[in-house]
Parts: sequence; C-alpha cells; structure tokens
Amino acid sequence: MTVPEPLYLDYAATTPVDPAVAAAMGSCLAGPDGIGNASSITHFFGRRAAERIERARGEVAALIGAAPGEIVFTSGATESDNLAVLGAARANAHRGRHIVSSRIEHKAVLDPVKRLEKEGFAVTLLPPDRSGRIDPNIVSAALRADTVLVSIMLVNNEIGVIQDIASIGDLCRARGVLFHSDAAQAAGRIPIDVHALPVDLMSITAHKLYGPKGIGALYVRSGARARLQPIVFGGGQENGLRPGTLPTHQIAGFGVACDIARRSLGAEGARLAGLRERLWQGLASLGGVHANGEGAPCVPGILNVSFEGVEGESLVAGLCELAVSTGSACNSASAEPSYVLRALGRDTQVAQSSLRLSFGRFSLPQHIDVAVEAIRREVTRLRALSPASEPAGAPSSPAQVVGEAGGPGREVWIRFRLSIGDGLVKAALFKAYGCPHTLAVAAWVAERLRGRGRADLAPGTPAEWAEALAVPVEKLGRLLVVEDALADCARHWPERE
Ligand SMILES: *Cc1c(COP(=O)(O)O)cnc(C)c1O
Repeated sequence: MTVPEPLYLDYAATTPVDPAVAAAMGSCLAGPDGIGNASSITHFFGRRAAERIERARGEVAALIGAAPGEIVFTSGATESDNLAVLGAARANAHRGRHIVSSRIEHKAVLDPVKRLEKEGFAVTLLPPDRSGRIDPNIVSAALRADTVLVSIMLVNNEIGVIQDIASIGDLCRARGVLFHSDAAQAAGRIPIDVHALPVDLMSITAHKLYGPKGIGALYVRSGARARLQPIVFGGGQENGLRPGTLPTHQIAGFGVACDIARRSLGAEGARLAGLRERLWQGLASLGGVHANGEGAPCVPGILNVSFEGVEGESLVAGLCELAVSTGSACNSASAEPSYVLRALGRDTQVAQSSLRLSFGRFSLPQHIDVAVEAIRREVTRLRALSPASEPAGAPSSPAQVVGEAGGPGREVWIRFRLSIGDGLVKAALFKAYGCPHTLAVAAWVAERLRGRGRADLAPGTPAEWAEALAVPVEKLGRLLVVEDALADCARHWPERE
C-alpha cells in the first residue's frame, strides 16, 4: 500500500529542487564540465569546470548585487555563518574582543558565537521586541569601543520577520565595526542589493532557493577580505578563504537556481503574499489564533501561527496530510518550545502550539485551502477534547464522579467523568490536553474503566500503559498525570450512592 504524499508546506526548512536546476546539475555531472578539477587549468577539462563555476559565480553574485569576486563558495549557510563569525572575530581580535548578535539568530550563528565566548570574547545577544524586530537603537547602545563584529540576520527562519539591516549596518559602518547578516531565508525571497546596503559579510544557501543542498556562499565585500581569516586550511581555493576542490555540479545548480530566482522575484513575491493572506484569513476566523511576528515586515512565504488551547505536538501529529514544522526544523526534534518565540515573550504553551507554514514556487491556492481545512479540523477537534471545553469539574449528578489532574497552562491536563452504579463504573468519559501519547493513553484507559470499582479503578500502571501503547520512557512522567486523575476520581467517589 502506498501512503499518499503529504502536502509540502515546509519551504523554510528547505525548498524542492527546481526541475531546471536538476537538469543543469545532471548535464554538468554527465558531461565534460563534470570531469575536471577547476584548479587544473593546464588542460581542457579543468578549464571547462572553471568556466562553468565562474558562470555560476556571476549568477549567484547577480542575485544579491555583488561582484563575482566577492562570492566565496561554501557547503551552505551554516558554514558561511561559521566562517563569517569565527573568521571575522578571530582576525580582528587584536582590535577588540566584543561581539554583538541577537537571541533569535539561527544556531549556525549562535553556536559559533558561543564558541568565541569560550575563546575569551565578550558577547551581547540582543532581545527582539514583541513583533520580532531588533531595534537599531539597542544595537547602537550595545556597541562598545572593543566591538569588532555585529551579526544580525536579514530574515528570521521561524517567523519570517525582516530586520532593518540598512539602519543596523549604518551604525556599524560609522563605528568601523564589521557587519555580517545571515540571509539564508532572504535570498531569492526578497530583493537584496549588497552594494546598496552597509553590509560586509552575508551568508546564503542554495537549498532555500530551489537549488541543491550542500552548497552555499559567503558574500565578502571587497575590502573586507583582509579582516577575515579562514576556518579550514588546504589548497588555497576561494581566495584562501575556503580551500577544497569546488563541486562543479553543485555550484552549477546553485547558479541556475539564483538566475531563476532573480528573474522571478517580483512576480513571485506578490503571488506568495497573496497566498499568505489567503492562509491567514482562513485560519484567523477560528479565533484564538495569533500570527507571530505580526506588526513587523515579513517575507511573503512564511506564516508562523499559534493556537490558543491546543498542544503543538498533538496538532502536528493530527495533520498527517501536511508536511509542516513546529518552530524550526532544527529544533522540533526536541519538545522544547522554540527559543525564538520565547524571545518574543510568548509563554511556553503558546510557543508550543505554534506552526510554521512556509510555501513557495510550487504552492498553489488550492494547497493553501487544503492546509486551512486540515488545520481548522484539528484545532477544532483538539479544543473540543480539552478539559477547557467544558465547565470545570463538578459532577452533573450524584451518580457521577469527576476527577482531574494537571491543569490549564500545564503540559498535561486530564479529566475523567465516570457514571457509577452498584459501586462500579457504568460508563467513562474523558477530556485531555497534552501530547499525542498522553491523549492516546487517556483514551485507552477510559475504555477500560467500565466495570471497575473504586479500589481498583486504574487498569494497570503507567509503566504498563506505556508498554501497551509504545510510549517512549522519557514521556512516562506525563502518564503519571493520567494516574493522578484516576486517583482524584477515587477520592471523590461517594461513600454510598
Ligand atoms: C537554513 C538556514 C541556515 C543553515 O543553512 P544550511 O545551508 O542548511 O547550512 C542558516 N541560517 C538560516 C537563517 C537558515 O534559515
């Protein structure tokens, strides 16, 4: 049996490769351009590879308004960010050891910044305002005499908010401080002209703009090269900044992807803004829906929304026909609420109930409608299942016992409502808020309560439920809340009916 493919709405994690890009890469790999090493310019094949790479370098440069000589190919934005942050800080350490960045940067910036802290650099991580913007005034206030680098992203990967890098860059330039911007989410989505912007270093990656994974670039403003040192060492390629044999087919694909993006930018931006509005209108009418990053300028292809009264993991688990992400793809493997949404001042529950919907070149209005339908269905279902959907726990008759545990704002909230007669459970209803495991166990337990008495109300132990329903051990704690709700029922069980 083949499972139907879900609808892809995770373009901010990575984009599908454009067929024209795949074709260019295939012909590059299979043809004469793919044979030689671009450094072997003594022969035909090396020169063919070098020519193919230089054409692509021009295409990549053109997308962001750079000169071809200012493009350094890397393995992606993670490496570009590392090269920019580590390379600039270390090369300028003799001038000062203070770095400014923000709390909502991608880990590819935050982790090298942390690394520098271990090397003795002082770091200031600026908070965003509630809409997700970094106020240039707080950047200005953070600059010190020993500040050597500021790194602020152009577009945030979780909420799509566009930062005012023109104003931030102006402040840096006035103080002679190097300015890096991670533009992985911006390149191909919004127009960028690095020569019109006061930016020295900018990271981009192919796989966020319909190119292949594993290739990216760092823009290094001519003149900034001397203030940057490499983080890997070898054969001297890429002006000594990123040695290693250049992957011709990857770079060729990157070039074609940038060329397509540059040509389609204007019309595509307007089309995606329309899809975003359609999505937002469709979801907002549910009520209790918040757009994260609202009030700040945003890229058209990303909408991050939080749903009151809905647990995020259960929401995503119920949306099996959609490929979407909670928080960022890099963080959603853990159940930790997104650090970006927390930095915006969202409480844990709201941060945890967020969905990042991102779409792009191959998304159509009917896809948006499918997503709206599915999300409305799941949010409505989970809200109806939540204990918050009914008036608090009072029994509606003497033959009813109500017990609950957990509560609003907690990770888990369970309520059982038992009809009893002759000292036994006649019927059991439940309400539950929590992760999919918690909901499954609550339902499983509720089904097994009929015919049980007060003294042996729990059908087994949490460890047994976990085993029966394949709940991972680290989630076992949540099942204790189910047990507590049963114990609460037993406590409320009348002495005589
Ligand atoms: C995707 C992304 C990265 C990492 O890019 P890779 O090419 O996957 O290494 C870095 N920063 C931002 C903002 C991103 O969205």
